[in-house]
Amino acid sequence: MVNAIWQAFADECARWHDLGRKVEFWWRDDDATQPVPALLRLLALAKSAAVPVALAVVPEAATAALCTGLSGAVSLLQHGVDHRNRAAAGERKSEFTDHEPLETALARLARGRGQLQALSEGQSLDVLVPPWNRLSRQLIAQLPRVGLSGLSRYGARDAISAAQGLRQLNTHVDIIAWNAGRGFVGEEAALAQAVRHLAARRNGFADSSEATGWLTHHACHDEAAWRFLGELLDVTRSLPGVRWIDARVFFAGRANA
Ligand SMILES: [Zn+2]
Repeated sequence: MVNAIWQAFADECARWHDLGRKVEFWWRDDDATQPVPALLRLLALAKSAAVPVALAVVPEAATAALCTGLSGAVSLLQHGVDHRNRAAAGERKSEFTDHEPLETALARLARGRGQLQALSEGQSLDVLVPPWNRLSRQLIAQLPRVGLSGLSRYGARDAISAAQGLRQLNTHVDIIAWNAGRGFVGEEAALAQAVRHLAARRNGFADSSEATGWLTHHACHDEAAWRFLGELLDVTRSLPGVRWIDARVFFAGRANA
């Protein structure tokens, strides 16, 4: 343990351990399209740490090479369809806005799901990760109609099911400083987000059963981000009661369980 910031993180994990509870983390990496060097570096890091990682793949931009030769600890999620912003000027970015007719959005999603299934030879999960972590509210309940049974966004979920037949597992720690240079947010900010979600779960202010999700974007990682990730995987291995769960295990569960 290197400093007070990491110590605070370890202390929070220890509180869980003292309560006889497991700290569960999961890892989602967004914007995968091709096996570029940064993505290969991320996969190598996950493999050497024996930690499962879920890649959010953009169906219309993905290549077959992306889905070839992946280890069993890598799962594939559907990251929208084309990752194109359809929000009007002044609105927050979104691929799935209220302006797009519901049936049009559903048809696009079905097509994207089919593309990803074909590329991955049926290995991708039926889980939507909407670009920019948002989508039209009215679309959510309709997702099961096109075969989607999972949803992953950002922020503590309010319930395990986002709608009938739709399990959700979100991310809670974003390591990129989107509004400040798009580099690493810094270990203090990253670990503070994790401690905040863990403490909220522990104290009953957030769904205590939702695994804390670490969100990465391989294409944006600077050396500081890579160093942090390596250290995080190292440190969590040595903390008692901490484990990294595989997204496919969660999403394979019963839709309304
Ligand atoms: Zn994205």
